[in-house]
Amino acid sequence: MPAPRTYITTTIPYVNGRPHLGHALELVQADVLARHWRQRGEQVRFQTGTDDNSLKNVLAAQAEGIGVQEFVDRNAAAFIELDGPLSLSVDDVIRTSCDPRHRAGVERLWRACADAGDLHRRHYAGLYCVGCEQFYPEAELNDGRCPEHDVPPEPVSEENWFFALSRYAGRLRSLIETDALRIVPAERRNEVLAFIAGGLDDFSISRSVARAHGWGIPVPGDPSQVIYVWWDALGNYITALGYGTGGADYQRWWAGAQHRVHLVGKDVLRFHAVYWPAMLLSADLPLPTQIVVHDFLTADGRKISKSGGPTVDPADLAGRYGTDAIRWWLLREVPRVGDVDFTVARLVSRANNELANGIGNLVNRVVAMIHRYRDGQVPPGPVPSGRAVPPPGPVPSGGAGPLQRACREAPGLVDSALAARDFRRATSALWSIVDEANRYINVIRPWELARSEQAGDRQAASDLDAALSILILACQTIAEHLATFLPGAASLITRQCTPVHDRLPAPTPLFARLPPSDPHHPAPASAAR
Ligand SMILES: [Zn+2]
Repeated sequence: MPAPRTYITTTIPYVNGRPHLGHALELVQADVLARHWRQRGEQVRFQTGTDDNSLKNVLAAQAEGIGVQEFVDRNAAAFIELDGPLSLSVDDVIRTSCDPRHRAGVERLWRACADAGDLHRRHYAGLYCVGCEQFYPEAELNDGRCPEHDVPPEPVSEENWFFALSRYAGRLRSLIETDALRIVPAERRNEVLAFIAGGLDDFSISRSVARAHGWGIPVPGDPSQVIYVWWDALGNYITALGYGTGGADYQRWWAGAQHRVHLVGKDVLRFHAVYWPAMLLSADLPLPTQIVVHDFLTADGRKISKSGGPTVDPADLAGRYGTDAIRWWLLREVPRVGDVDFTVARLVSRANNELANGIGNLVNRVVAMIHRYRDGQVPPGPVPSGRAVPPPGPVPSGGAGPLQRACREAPGLVDSALAARDFRRATSALWSIVDEANRYINVIRPWELARSEQAGDRQAASDLDAALSILILACQTIAEHLATFLPGAASLITRQCTPVHDRLPAPTPLFARLPPSDPHHPAPASAAR
């Protein structure tokens, strides 16, 4: 049976500013899932991109006094270049302003919905927040101000194209209720169902060319109008696969894939869980199978944003503290539900406690003992080589049971945690191997076995062989599973635990200890690995 195919995407951010830590969260979560499925033998395509066609980008470019294309090219690069600092295993990137696959796909999607009789032109007057790129009914405003941006939306009155969203309320509700379109976590699923139950209005899907400042994709057959940026942007999930340009990718990764997974922030849930599936239903195309919703990060207690408020630049953080430290913080501290506050002090203490003092120290200790007691040669163990998971069976050396159980159970625990999209729980399974390995060292006391061995105790010699072999296997197991979460650190551990010409490399520290954070004296670049 061929391996299942999974297509996973992040949202495509507006490029009106520089990337912040919230973008890094979504990218790292998607990357972990992509790496996990690949490690389990599935076929995976991981896609991200940038939303270039927003009116926000036009206004930001005007404020800077440069051309829109030049502006979006420059800012999009900062998002696309995050793959290095964040160690992302991205397979494809789409930019909506200049990728030749995109416009053709958006036009085809438009025509398919028009052919279904779902597009009509009419006059519309409403209140529009450019920050959100959406109209707001007065009831959703706070004292007449946008709930997201706290600014009054601008009144707009013009002829627009509308999409017949109201027609799809019943089908959307039953698809979500039956989990054919699964929304996780359940809190967000309930939120979408409540929104649908409140009644769906048809929504405007075009803007006058004048209001869009001529930027964006023209409506097919109506050059006075530009396609609404959300319609355009949502299309990226299929246009990048060649929906409008032919080719096998669309069949392979959308129509023919077993899983089509979107990662999204809670602020854009409605677009992904209501508008986008309705557009696909109208065009008679398959829907995503799952929408995974994350909450927000704050920084030092304040909302993170591209414009105003604290901006935490992921590339800058990676340069200072290292890719592993950032990924580890995002995976270890961000809960499945609920906002979480980022501070540099938390990043540093998490990295020092768990990476430098935890995993790094354990590997270093084990490799150093193998050098000290066995001249760097891994002793023959009770476990057949080739698979870094000890089989069940009698425990050869006192007290190794819990450690061997933690190694054996880790893959299943990681599987079930990531199936629930719970990254904290997944990393905890790894952490329990580290805990058990340290406990085992304290119980078995290899240094005492070595002393007895020197005094001629042959049982102590064979116990020490067994203990060292169990411990190096635990380190290899940690590396094997850590590859999903911290690919850089995992490959360093693997190298440290793999004999070269029969001997392990000399022990070297895997993670530098980061200096305590001081906003006035940023950590030196040498602190990063
Ligand atoms: Zn707004």
